[in-house]
Amino acid sequence: MNRLDGKVCVVTGAASGIGKRIAEVYAAAGGKVAIADLKLDAAEATAQDIRDAGGDALAVAMDVTDEAQVVDGIAQVVAHYGRVDVLVSNAGIQIVNKVTDFSLADWKKMLAIHLDGAFLTTREALRDMEKRKSGGAIIYMGSVHSHLASKLKAPYVTAKHGLLGLARTVAKEAAEYGVRANVICPGFVRTPLVEKQIPEQAKELGISEEDVVKNVMLKDTVDGEFTTVDDVANVALTLAAFESNALTGQSIVVSHGWFMQ
Ligand code: NAD
Repeated sequence: MNRLDGKVCVVTGAASGIGKRIAEVYAAAGGKVAIADLKLDAAEATAQDIRDAGGDALAVAMDVTDEAQVVDGIAQVVAHYGRVDVLVSNAGIQIVNKVTDFSLADWKKMLAIHLDGAFLTTREALRDMEKRKSGGAIIYMGSVHSHLASKLKAPYVTAKHGLLGLARTVAKEAAEYGVRANVICPGFVRTPLVEKQIPEQAKELGISEEDVVKNVMLKDTVDGEFTTVDDVANVALTLAAFESNALTGQSIVVSHGWFMQ
């Protein structure tokens, strides 16, 4: 079984959805988990749930788009736990619109959360990992949209494709320090991020919410099923616990066959 005993794991956007489940699974595997999120109250609640279940967790306030908050947040983790071994750059939002209707402000907001956030958290975590020379793992939350496009999602698709480039570059630069970088690419998972999109897409596309689920979101899966937070968290555990550079610079698609590579 994959274990993370004593490993210090920072998960961004861990107060909700996929990030929360990754934090819980990491803690259950023996990891010490920093719950880094914009919403400190929700991060505290997640950390408390983990502690109540016998795990070790710390809530950290962090807007991943804010350089000072990322620098300070990673420093808080190092001050508390002494190091960073695993980073999961997971925080993300979705804004759907046609390219011709997107404001520059919304475009920039999307790229800031998904790309600036990934860069800033990588830089700070990697600086610590390189200093200690004891290896590590960086995991980016991509999406099937790292490989495919869908209507109405221009900045999301652009940013998620961009994470592949960042992961591959980090894989090359950090290999000599034993740090691996990979991307997980989930299909649709029923988190608050997706629940919000269903009515929005129904309105934009002029179809029912049921049709959005069946004929848009799950249309190309092999079995019409949503991916679950457990599916994604189990892959995140494997990537975090993997012990050599053999598995680096990759994207792992977890999507019920929606996208096959
Ligand atoms: P979610 O809305 O349930 O959780 C996202 C978390 O990120 C929230 O706790 C939120 O507070 C936090 N967050 C938002 N902006 C932040 C910021 N600037 N700084 C720090 N934290 C911030 O969403 P989710 O579905 O769990 O999504 C997590 C990641 O998974 C995202 O990167 C998303 O793009 C990706 N993803 C989701 C799906 C899906 O179907 N749900 C599929 C593929 C990829």
